[in-house]
Amino acid sequence: QELIKRLEETIENFPDFPIPGIQFKDISPIFLDPKLYEDVIADLVAFSKGKIDAVCGIESRGYLFGIAIAVALEVPFILIRKKGKLPPPIVSEKYDLEYGSAEIETREGQIKKGQRILIHDDLLATGGTTEAAAKLVEKQGAAVAQFSFLIGLKDLNGDQKLEKFGAEIYNILEY
Ligand code: IMP
Repeated sequence: QELIKRLEETIENFPDFPIPGIQFKDISPIFLDPKLYEDVIADLVAFSKGKIDAVCGIESRGYLFGIAIAVALEVPFILIRKKGKLPPPIVSEKYDLEYGSAEIETREGQIKKGQRILIHDDLLATGGTTEAAAKLVEKQGAAVAQFSFLIGLKDLNGDQKLEKFGAEIYNILEY
């Protein structure tokens, strides 16, 4: 509760950025406060402790917390990247955006068969990106055990898109 309050006071809101109608949440002030960052990591680590074999972080803000979770739990960290950034062989997954489509990728062989995976990102909006990440994990014979986010935007119903994976979902903050 105290952590939620400190985060609410720290995360900055920008109406109509980057386009009209979007309420942008900027998490960068968290990194100005090392103690707050540490407490956020501790909270996310407590959620995943003993339940996962590896962490997949979604580019790019998913890396800022995901890697710290993985190091604390002494499990591997795998980068889920946007198309064209990783050398082959890669595994990829296409998904639809409001306009057009996008693609995410991982290096082949980094996710192992049978692993219980945490998928982490800073923010859950429509769930499109995270859903594609979960499909990418399952394609490689691993199971999505958990999703974690700093922020979940309730009105966009992203968690409905994630239900089919049968994994636990955790947001520190909900709007
Ligand atoms: P989704 O695919 O619609 O769930 O969008 C989630 C992705 O968009 C995440 O990778 C977020 O980092 C990013 N995102 C969407 N809205 C915001 C925002 O308000 N602040 C920061 N990131 C956002």
